[in-house]
Amino acid sequence: MTDPDFERAQKAYEDIRAAFFPRWDRRRSWKLEIDPSLPRNGDCGTWKPKTITLQFVLADAEELDQLLIHEICHAPGPEHGSPWQRRMMAAATKAEALGRSQLSARLKEEVDGLRDPRSKGEASAKYVYSTIEDAVMELPGLSSDEILARVAQSRGLSLAELKMRYKRSEKVCLKAIQEEALYRRKA
Ligand SMILES: [Zn+2]
Repeated sequence: MTDPDFERAQKAYEDIRAAFFPRWDRRRSWKLEIDPSLPRNGDCGTWKPKTITLQFVLADAEELDQLLIHEICHAPGPEHGSPWQRRMMAAATKAEALGRSQLSARLKEEVDGLRDPRSKGEASAKYVYSTIEDAVMELPGLSSDEILARVAQSRGLSLAELKMRYKRSEKVCLKAIQEEALYRRKA
């Protein structure tokens, strides 16, 4: 592919690998892929092995680096549980050492947002609810609890913890299921 956006992403991917993940994928079996057909917030939700997939190439170089780091930290799996959080925090420390304190702060913020919903209450809850809506679209036919259990697992929480921390989870999920059913009937 000779798309200039893809070339820019490929260059950023190579630089990030070299600077942040020098010991990862030494055999170079992973590749970068841009897939505009991914659902909203789909970069992590559509995880597949040996592929770092971005929905599109972010214009802002720093945001692109941040997203690449987020996704490479996901290489072992799609969850945002403690192993992913540890890898993100290690990358934040590395960014600081490289003199990229803004990038470091952004990475930490992202982890904090997932780790402690009280620290960034609103944004974090909004993110969780949109993840639930996406999951409903991606997993048609599942019950509300089945969907919420998957979302909970991806955040390193139990189903009960998810419902406790994000009080509207069930409501958001049921509404999305209803809308999805209506949409499918019309389609
Ligand atoms: Zn993710």
